[in-house]
Amino acid sequence: MIISLRDTADRLMAANSFVLTSHVNPDGDAIGSCLGLKFILESLGKKVQVLIDDDVPKFLSIMPGLDEVKKPVEDHYDADYLVILDACLDRVGTVPEKCKAPVLNIDHHGTNDNLADYLYLDADSAATAEIVYRLAKAMGIKFDKDSATAVYIGLATDSGYFKYSNTTPQTMRAAAELLETGIQPEKISEAIETKDFAVVQGLAKALQTVELYADGKVAGIFLDYELTSSIETTEGFIDLIRVIDGVDISVVLKAVEPEVCRVSMRSKETDVSTLALRLGGGGHKRAAGCTIKLPFAEAKNCLIDEILKAIED
Ligand code: AMP
Ligand code: MN
Ligand code: MN
Repeated sequence: MIISLRDTADRLMAANSFVLTSHVNPDGDAIGSCLGLKFILESLGKKVQVLIDDDVPKFLSIMPGLDEVKKPVEDHYDADYLVILDACLDRVGTVPEKCKAPVLNIDHHGTNDNLADYLYLDADSAATAEIVYRLAKAMGIKFDKDSATAVYIGLATDSGYFKYSNTTPQTMRAAAELLETGIQPEKISEAIETKDFAVVQGLAKALQTVELYADGKVAGIFLDYELTSSIETTEGFIDLIRVIDGVDISVVLKAVEPEVCRVSMRSKETDVSTLALRLGGGGHKRAAGCTIKLPFAEAKNCLIDEILKAIED
């Protein structure tokens, strides 16, 4: 059932205990939204657990409260609501099996499947963290440095530090207010963007795989299982090819298992969310992703076929 921001805030205020979760392969918005909302609800005296069915990537080490992000190791978790942030039910691993509470879903992905008991969806928000910011306002909560940092990281990472097309005056106003708490944006971006030397070496190898398709309108980095295994993270790699002159769709395909490939896509014109949806994933018009359960070479062919079809449309 679709609900309003007001109804979402009222439900959060009326309940006492929550499990918060987000998508596997978590990003800054997934963790920032969960921890931001956790700090906000805790300031109202509520009991909150954050469960993520995956490892938190090293680049998010600066996030306050990270020690309290746990994996769902128990069989059963009690709560008044299971709150799913920045994803829909099918991308949060085993958490819904282990927490049978009513599901309150807060998301900004236009491709959300609307299967939760309650859904607040705003596809015009740059990040789910932007919705968390508005929820805090609706609940009358003031930000402190911890909650501001978590929400700011969600805003900044999903908007490419306020430069992607999802950045709006509301995004900037929210960020400005969060900075009023005294958090330092340069410290946050430095911590998030710092890479081990080995990752930069991996980046050099990844860049050697760049191929162009469709007269240069498509650029791709293609990492087979061996290469993927040698690179700790591919975070930010896609940003280095989306700048190639003439490129509309950029893509990073990596084999995370011998027969499982993860795909990230960005675009300037073509709607990549519908393309990702056709491949079983989702996302936004300008940033989307999917997982293709095929060996590397087949997944690559399948992806390129779909991209070429989308470019011709
Ligand atoms: P990424 O390339 O991982 O940064 O993802 C780009 C956007 O697509 C983000 O908003 C993701 O949440 C979304 N996305 C990535 N993979 C999937 C997927 N398998 N299903 C739905 N949305 C996805
Ligand atoms: Mn996300
Ligand atoms: Mn997001």
